[in-house]
Amino acid sequence: MTTTSYAIALGSNRPGRHGSPRAEIRAALAELGDVRAVSPIIVTAPVGPSIRAFANAAALVDSPLDPPAMLARLKAIERAFGRRRGQRWGARVIDLDIVLWSGGAWRSPGLVVPHIAYAARAFVLHPLAAIAADWRDPRDGRRVRHLRHGVDRRRPRP
Ligand code: ADP
Ligand code: MG
Repeated sequence: MTTTSYAIALGSNRPGRHGSPRAEIRAALAELGDVRAVSPIIVTAPVGPSIRAFANAAALVDSPLDPPAMLARLKAIERAFGRRRGQRWGARVIDLDIVLWSGGAWRSPGLVVPHIAYAARAFVLHPLAAIAADWRDPRDGRRVRHLRHGVDRRRPRP
């Protein structure tokens, strides 16, 4: 079977049974399988009294699974970590997204690769650039490092 590579984005903004969001990210990394590279975990401090800290990271995972099978695997991990259905945008113990796939672009019901929003998200591009700066978006050939510079220009980080 051909082995392909995935760039996976990890996020957490709610403590779970492993501890802090950072601990949840570490625990999820251990579940991902054949992890070839892991970014630093970045933590965005809470801004207001009711807003939780976010932890984010990226990983490169080698797998023979096709994208729907990989997504099913990620969702199984999310469920095991206590994420409930319908918690979109809300507090979640763990969020696992397929950002890029070495096989190129993919589209099937419930799944779009590259992830539709990643090119605008600093919290995805910063960790990803630490491990895959030269990976090109299959749609337009732009490198991750270039996309990262783009979000930094639009919205300077503190
Ligand atoms: P978000 O990750 O945008 O915060 P969710 O994690 O709730 O939101 O994802 C909502 C749905 O997006 C998932 O159930 C999944 O089917 C779909 N989806 C589409 N493309 C992808 C992708 N590349 N990676 C992960 N989920 C995806
Ligand atoms: Mg998700």
